[in-house]
Amino acid sequence: MSNTSITNAESGLVHAEVVRRELVTPHMVRVTLSGDDLRRFVFTGFDQWFRLAIPVRDDGSSLADLPDSFGIGGYLRYLRLPKQTRPVIRNYTVRSFRPATDAAALPELDIDFVVHGDQGIAGPWAAAAKPGDAVALIDQGHGWPDQRPADWVLLVADESGLPAVAGILRDLPRDAVGHAFIEVLDERDRQPTGAPRGVQVHWLARSGGEAPGSLALPAVQQLSFLPGRVSAFAVGEQALAAGVRRHLVRERDVPKGDVTFSGYWRVGRSAPS
Ligand SMILES: Cc1cc2nc3c(=O)[nH]c(=O)nc-3n(C[C@H](O)[C@H](O)[C@H](O)COP(=O)(O)OP(=O)(O)OC[C@H]3O[C@@H](n4cnc5c(N)ncnc54)[C@H](O)[C@@H]3O)c2cc1C
Repeated sequence: MSNTSITNAESGLVHAEVVRRELVTPHMVRVTLSGDDLRRFVFTGFDQWFRLAIPVRDDGSSLADLPDSFGIGGYLRYLRLPKQTRPVIRNYTVRSFRPATDAAALPELDIDFVVHGDQGIAGPWAAAAKPGDAVALIDQGHGWPDQRPADWVLLVADESGLPAVAGILRDLPRDAVGHAFIEVLDERDRQPTGAPRGVQVHWLARSGGEAPGSLALPAVQQLSFLPGRVSAFAVGEQALAAGVRRHLVRERDVPKGDVTFSGYWRVGRSAPS
């Protein structure tokens, strides 16, 4: 479930390759992409996300058959590709983007992948990614409504939404105020956020093996709201995103239109496609 806006960016299908992989915290692996085609990528910041196409064959040749956009037409075209060989599509956030500084240099894009064991495609792919591995991506814009009028912000995420919330905190106006709740697997999974001074960042560590979202939702329920209109953003495991939205709308009388939410993943379920 999601009510985030999707922008099918003009850059269409952008090809890139892995140049680095680094374990930034115990449960987060950062994969850096680069390549000439990445010059066409337009960085809009905040929680900008994209469809990441991961080849299931080593040579990466199947990336060439992908559609240019992931609207209804593009998605149907993708589904018509042979299931055994078509790349797997997963959604990821731009953790950072460094444009090329001159004609000789190449841009770089970082993606932070949650390390979640050997289940699935993207997580295990990232854990083993090596320089030269080919991928492609389709930019979908940012979901954070940066023009929505508000007196304060409330951002909530689990570890899968850490890159999104960190991106919003980095790009918010410096005089923004509010609260951000970021639930992680371990105290050591905290990351610097560059949050505005007026936004208090609450790190919640599930070190006791608790269910995803089980710390962030109660923390939001106990929060003393700031005065005025809130602009809220809740992403992560489906139950967390939906639970925060339900609480805000039903128990805090926040208008539905002031809550952006998206279930980024579901316990026990693979992402579709
Ligand atoms: C807009 C958007 C942006 C996103 N940005 C990021 C991002 O920047 N970084 C990031 O790590 N994720 C991000 N996600 C979530 C990511 O797309 C999902 O976690 C995805 O399911 C991972 O694919 P997979 O192939 O590894 O696992 P899947 O094949 O989808 O699932 C296999 C198994 O792994 C489990 N699983 C999947 N994700 C997780 C997880 N995070 N923790 C624990 N278990 C999991 C599933 O429940 C399932 O049992 C984003 C999702 C959306 C919608």
